[in-house]
Amino acid sequence: MHEKLSSIYDNVLRRNPGEIEFHQAVREVLESVGPVLGKHPEYAESKIIERICEPERQIIFRVPWADDSGEVHINRGFRVEFNSALGPYKGGLRFHPSVYLGIVKFLGFEQIFKNSLTGLPIGGGKGGSDFDPKGRSEREVMRFCQSFMTELYRHIGEYTDVPAGDIGVGGREVGFLFGQYKRITNRFESGVITGKGLSYGGAQVRTEATGYGCAFFVEEMLRARGTSFDGKTVVVSGSGNVAVYAIEKVEQLGGRVVACSDSAGYVVDDKGIDLELLKQIKQVERGRLETYAARRGDHVAFVPGRSVWEVPCEVAMPSATQNEITGRDAAKMVETGCVAVGEGANMPTTPEGIKIFLEAGVAFGPGKAANAGGVATSALEMQQNASRDSWTFETTELRLREIMRDIHGRCVETADEYGMPGNYVAGANIDGFRRVADAMLSLGL
Ligand code: GLU
Repeated sequence: MHEKLSSIYDNVLRRNPGEIEFHQAVREVLESVGPVLGKHPEYAESKIIERICEPERQIIFRVPWADDSGEVHINRGFRVEFNSALGPYKGGLRFHPSVYLGIVKFLGFEQIFKNSLTGLPIGGGKGGSDFDPKGRSEREVMRFCQSFMTELYRHIGEYTDVPAGDIGVGGREVGFLFGQYKRITNRFESGVITGKGLSYGGAQVRTEATGYGCAFFVEEMLRARGTSFDGKTVVVSGSGNVAVYAIEKVEQLGGRVVACSDSAGYVVDDKGIDLELLKQIKQVERGRLETYAARRGDHVAFVPGRSVWEVPCEVAMPSATQNEITGRDAAKMVETGCVAVGEGANMPTTPEGIKIFLEAGVAFGPGKAANAGGVATSALEMQQNASRDSWTFETTELRLREIMRDIHGRCVETADEYGMPGNYVAGANIDGFRRVADAMLSLGL
């Protein structure tokens, strides 16, 4: 890392003790942007990097709620409003027991550059809670969402901060959150949250967008190398919203997805994942992947407690959570023929893993670029809400595909410009950073 940047990084470590995921996300960006500072001394003069690493505002609040038996629980709620140089803070809410300030800050930090890369007018933020929705009844989830929004509502707004979903927050939770916002404020302010249901201001393709977008991005990376998904063996980790629609689009584009996973283990299905069965179990029944194996037939095994990355593939789409592909996984994947990786999740590959992929010449699409389709389609939802319009599925999907192609194109051009051809990590970090930095400069201190 550039000397000046390494002292900024040390300062980030000191000011944010123990927030290891945030440190990791900052480090990755700072390692890429050194050459930009050489070309743009004005960024250093006005301390753009130092400013970008410090959230504009961080909100932490108490979320009390009662379960079905009447017992009271206290969770912690977060919203980190990281950077609004390009537009209102934008980013999802994650409900998962692992959530603490360091996770929300890593996600919010990534979101700044991801949102910038989309080319759309959205700043970066993220929020969530250490609430664990697993095993909770629908009414418990509703009460939790209502309590969460009872504090959050005063901090958000269509011109201020626009949340959406992330792990543990899907269409159902967005509905409960929006309902409470509407109840408290007496405003049908549809642009205050995205990922809404189609009956009350949601956008076509938003549910599918992260997974579809990731498949489009990988398609572009493969095309740039003169190949395609056609006939390729693909492994997708996870079986949530991102994974399911990544599988759907990959199958439509001619790839064969042979494995996916959940927190308990993975399934291998050599005939290709049966999407209808997977959707029935995960989305309708909210069940476990083990059931998939039991219902699909003898050729499918559920492998408990192991990493899905031991299954050989040509294309990998990690779509579960952060740091799921270790250096050791990456080395094994390269050895067994992996040629492309598209990160559907945020930061699913460890720094060691990324290094191994890049050194081996694997086409590696970092989450900031590869999974930007979700938030980009959220911005399209905001556009439709602002103009009180709704677009068709076809129009919206076409727009998403164009956005993913543009992001891919800009990553390639920027990496070339900085003498690192084929390095999508550098391309995404530098291109995302430049736009935010320019806006921050224009807006003054
Ligand atoms: N949580 C998603 C992400 O990581 C989507 C955020 C949004 O739509 O605002 O980008």
